[in-house]
Amino acid sequence: MILQAAALGVLFCSVQTFTIQGPFENGEEYSGHTVEDDEFSVSTLLEKANVNVGKNLDEPLVMFGDIAVPTGLQNADPCVTRGCLWPKATDGNVYVPFRIANSFSQRQRTTIIEGLRSFAASTCIRFTPLNRQRDFVDIQSLSGCFSFVGRRGRGQVVSLSRQGCVFRQIIQHELLHALGFNHEQTRSDRDQNVRILLENVISGMESNFRKIQTMNLGTPYDYNSVMHYGRFAFSKNRQPTIVPIPNANVAIGRATQMSPIDILRVNRLYRCNSTAFRPDLKPMHRNHFL
Ligand SMILES: [Zn+2]
Repeated sequence: MILQAAALGVLFCSVQTFTIQGPFENGEEYSGHTVEDDEFSVSTLLEKANVNVGKNLDEPLVMFGDIAVPTGLQNADPCVTRGCLWPKATDGNVYVPFRIANSFSQRQRTTIIEGLRSFAASTCIRFTPLNRQRDFVDIQSLSGCFSFVGRRGRGQVVSLSRQGCVFRQIIQHELLHALGFNHEQTRSDRDQNVRILLENVISGMESNFRKIQTMNLGTPYDYNSVMHYGRFAFSKNRQPTIVPIPNANVAIGRATQMSPIDILRVNRLYRCNSTAFRPDLKPMHRNHFL
């Protein structure tokens, strides 16, 4: 309950990030990395869409910006230690059943399905329409964009609000959470790659920048990951909250789709072998996955 109150408090605060107007006051040219330039970064879209998250008491507690957590669990543990991977089928693919709520428009539904389908193009993940499987992803339009990390058991909500979440990068981002991935800037090795400026973070939102003992699967830190927040995520003063090192001017958090390293990570976490995601090899499954 206390947790819930805290989460509500900070989410109200996040509104102010988008009401402050005016030029970037740093004085120096910032290589185009202004608050306005980050308008379509994943974290900006998430912050905007998640302004109302937590106001409905029947919705899950959302922390770390867009990660739903069971009440009482404050820390997102490394996925595999919780056994939260989706199971692998004998053909080498990982079938993740899904259901999409009827509240989406036909166009939004198509966008969501395209997002689900994008995983099949480059990984062994196959989102497949729910057909009486026990565990599945339940895509709904609740009050924001959020997801649990990894498979939770039974139907688990992935919320893609009709207002502000039905974009390819957000769909992929939330589904990557459901597959077991955390935010890039919370990686165990992030301090070698970014500097977190907590002094610029909205009071109460510091937990979004907490480091997690993630499994990095031998992949390099990736500024272009669709799981990376933008430079101004949760900024209270239009100053950066995440600065890449050593080169502060490198673009971060601007992905509009999964990066090659995001894809590599999925393939490593789920041990996709090189043949599993060749659709031509498994014609019998064509009608069963997206
Ligand atoms: Zn997220």
